[in-house]
Amino acid sequence: MRKLVYFFGGGKAEGSSQLRTLLGGKGAELAEMTNLGIRVPPGFTITTEAWSEYVKLGRRDPRGLWEEVREHLGRLEALLERRLGDAERPLLVSVRSGARVSMPGMMETVLNLGLNDKAVEGLAQRTGNERFAWDCYRRFLTMFGDVVLGIERRRFEELLQVAKTRTGARTDADLAVPALRGLVSGYKGLYEEAGEPFPQDPMVQLTLAVHAVFDSWFSKKAEDYRRIHAVPNDWGTAVTIQAMVFGNLGETSGTGVAFTRDPSSGERRFFGEFLPNAQGEDVVAGTRTPQPITALRDRMPGVYQELEATYQGLERHYRDMLDIEFTVQEGTLYLLQNRSGKRTAAAAVRIAVDMVSEGLIDRDLALLRVDPDQLDRLLHPIFDQAAKARAIAEGRLIAKGLPAAPGASVGRVVFSADDAEEWAERGEKVILIRTETSPEDVAGMYAAQGILTSRGGLTSHAAVVGRGMGKTCVVGCGDITVDEDALEFRRRDVVVRQGDVLSLDGETGEVVLGAVPTKPSEVVQVLLEKSLTAEASPLFQYFGAIMQWADEARRLGVRANADTPTDAATALAFGAEGIGLCRTEHMFFKPEARIPIVREMILARDREARLRALEKLLPMQREDFIGIFRAMHGRPVTIRLLDPPLHEFLPKEREIGKELAALRAKTRKDRQRIAELEMILEKVRSLQEANPMLGHRGCRLGITYPEIYEMQVRAIFEAAALLVREGVAVEPEVMIPLTGTIGEMRLTREMAVRTAEAVLAEAGVRVAYTVGTMIEVPRAALVADQIARDAEFFSFGTNDLTQLTYGYSRDDVGKFLPLYLERELLPRDPFRVLDQEGVGELIRTGIERGRQTRSDLKVGICGEHGGEPSSVEFCHRVGMTYVSCSPFQIPTARLAAAQARIKERGSDG
Ligand code: ADP
Ligand code: MG
Ligand code: MG
Repeated sequence: MRKLVYFFGGGKAEGSSQLRTLLGGKGAELAEMTNLGIRVPPGFTITTEAWSEYVKLGRRDPRGLWEEVREHLGRLEALLERRLGDAERPLLVSVRSGARVSMPGMMETVLNLGLNDKAVEGLAQRTGNERFAWDCYRRFLTMFGDVVLGIERRRFEELLQVAKTRTGARTDADLAVPALRGLVSGYKGLYEEAGEPFPQDPMVQLTLAVHAVFDSWFSKKAEDYRRIHAVPNDWGTAVTIQAMVFGNLGETSGTGVAFTRDPSSGERRFFGEFLPNAQGEDVVAGTRTPQPITALRDRMPGVYQELEATYQGLERHYRDMLDIEFTVQEGTLYLLQNRSGKRTAAAAVRIAVDMVSEGLIDRDLALLRVDPDQLDRLLHPIFDQAAKARAIAEGRLIAKGLPAAPGASVGRVVFSADDAEEWAERGEKVILIRTETSPEDVAGMYAAQGILTSRGGLTSHAAVVGRGMGKTCVVGCGDITVDEDALEFRRRDVVVRQGDVLSLDGETGEVVLGAVPTKPSEVVQVLLEKSLTAEASPLFQYFGAIMQWADEARRLGVRANADTPTDAATALAFGAEGIGLCRTEHMFFKPEARIPIVREMILARDREARLRALEKLLPMQREDFIGIFRAMHGRPVTIRLLDPPLHEFLPKEREIGKELAALRAKTRKDRQRIAELEMILEKVRSLQEANPMLGHRGCRLGITYPEIYEMQVRAIFEAAALLVREGVAVEPEVMIPLTGTIGEMRLTREMAVRTAEAVLAEAGVRVAYTVGTMIEVPRAALVADQIARDAEFFSFGTNDLTQLTYGYSRDDVGKFLPLYLERELLPRDPFRVLDQEGVGELIRTGIERGRQTRSDLKVGICGEHGGEPSSVEFCHRVGMTYVSCSPFQIPTARLAAAQARIKERGSDG
């Protein structure tokens, strides 16, 4: 029989950490903590399988679910000697959502469920605290109304405000019993208005709440979060029903959240916040600014000590930095949640390395603990300290908030998530300003560079989510008053309006008017600019340790896509072992002085004229290759011969037309220029293709205009010969783009070899080289055994291969891809994350067939996917030799390659 409900309590739990898929993170860890003997309020968890069935049945309860719930509720009632809705000994529960992975604040939770007109009296009597009981009741009515019945939260808050004003209460905690009673009846009025009276029957409350939590998986905010964090839509949520403990029972009660280490820097210190006399909701929502965790130490040293011992034990058990939620009820500590703590990239590398030296984890686990995508952030700019100091001296520091997530962001101010998305779409960099953020703002937060809130602490929604997304984040900036309707915020007499430029320092919490210049990150300063020594940067040392361990662990090579000597040097500094893609056409565009010569070559009337133009390009191209070979010190450099259709090098038809019209309109005509333009126009028209992506490009160009490829190959080998004579080692790999047939491959290869041999013979030197091809036409993958007869290496060009496999034009996908993703017709953008099923199958086939012919065939990838972690893992699994990505993605690829190897070893044995 399937089991839909798992109990925890009385020192034992049916679940454990192992059952995270079934019980969700929250349910599984509550069970685990219970088994560890940690004080956790008892309860039970409805599984994600129950959720799946509920969804499959068209949002109807799976058979037997409520029998099981009732049975477990009975167990809970017996354990606590209280009953749901009882007039004397009422049991109150929370109904909590919990997915397999933590989605902070994305789904719903209802607290204090089980209260009704009778139970509230019972609660008052049993606790001897009438105020407390009515406070719980009004909280419950608010949450239940908002979460379960969709009555606007604002309406409850308005009534609360009125009650506070009328009674002269400063905070919610000052409201006395009569005011609270009044409020409760006012709230019930809101239910009536909304169409249904407040349900007094606790089982009805429970049923509705469970459904609401089930359904909250489909809320817009949860959907946005899943899209951004690539969480599959069919995972669903578990629901935990847990006995309430009360942090709002007076001054020896309270609630808090904490991280076992500093989530920004990774420093080993307990880091958290505490709010006396409050329920957990108050902290998480950031509606009251909490006190640092030391406040708990001062108030209740015994509780603090217990908390310390608990978290240390948990860290040893989980061997990870944790994020915990707790409540103190009249001097007794209860743990309510624990999960792996979200952390910045800097914290991630530091914690991983520290835990290895502390003996908590080994190197493999340390490598798995760092998110490869996160490493990218360690390479991005930080504020130039001197420039910031000047800005501050000029009086531009307008406020200082809590530094919640590091980064240096400069952008225009906006006040709503929608505006943030809209402005960002237009290409503006924006800073999102809110009083506080809520889960509805997630998409806007993602679009922004940075986030600034005037309320909430370091564990508020803005802080936790911002940190997770890698956004610069400053919260709880009480110095400013945000007016979201007027689209402005103020600090005394300074007013900052929508569109003004602001600089946000996530390291210090400083908010500076205008743009503060940024400078390279510490890692870049050490590796690229050499303006900082490794010894002077602890952050670099942590980063360096991870990179070194990654290199020791991985099998897959990592190369860079680099077209210039500067790119090549950057790539090398970041750890590239070679160049996997050097695109020669970029050398045709830059420096700009070359374009006229390239055009001359294209416009040439005959072979003679074309050769003359190519003659001029030859020395330029040779210089480029010399620079790149020199920068790479003998490492392999894959050079792709000309690939794009020629029209890309000519002006647009419209531009020529405009200039012509202007010239013809003049009375004194420049006949020579007109004739020239007419010729260009004619050429542009003759090059026009219905579908240039499928047209005259790649090796097709090299075959129709062999002299172009010959010039390029000549430039490569003249450069190589020159360097070899100087004593510099070189390893050129000539790559033919877009081959699809053995004929194309054979012809272009012969041409390349003939030219190379001629040049080397002239120069009288030997250079070892290879000729290979990009595999980007599906046919090439299918006939890879034939292609490999003439190709000494393959490099999968997965941008074109994806385009041609799906039949989606890369230039036009924008018109339908967003809708496809939204409707889940595609799980993700295949141009960003390699489609392992389809495109991946072609890659697998291509490698297998290629190696049938040539067992030592070198195979790489050079599309956008080469720096995307899940794609890198795939490349490892299918036995590629290397991946190639942009220089700044190299650390990410190195770590992803190491993780792939470690995971593979793990699954082997
Ligand atoms: P989220 O996933 O949004 O963090 P939770 O289920 O953790 O939602 O609930 C939010 C807060 O409600 C928690 O931080 C906790 O403080 C409080 N809470 C939840 N269950 C209980 C309970 N049984 N007793 C007391 N407080 C609770
Ligand atoms: Mg929580
Ligand atoms: Mg291509």
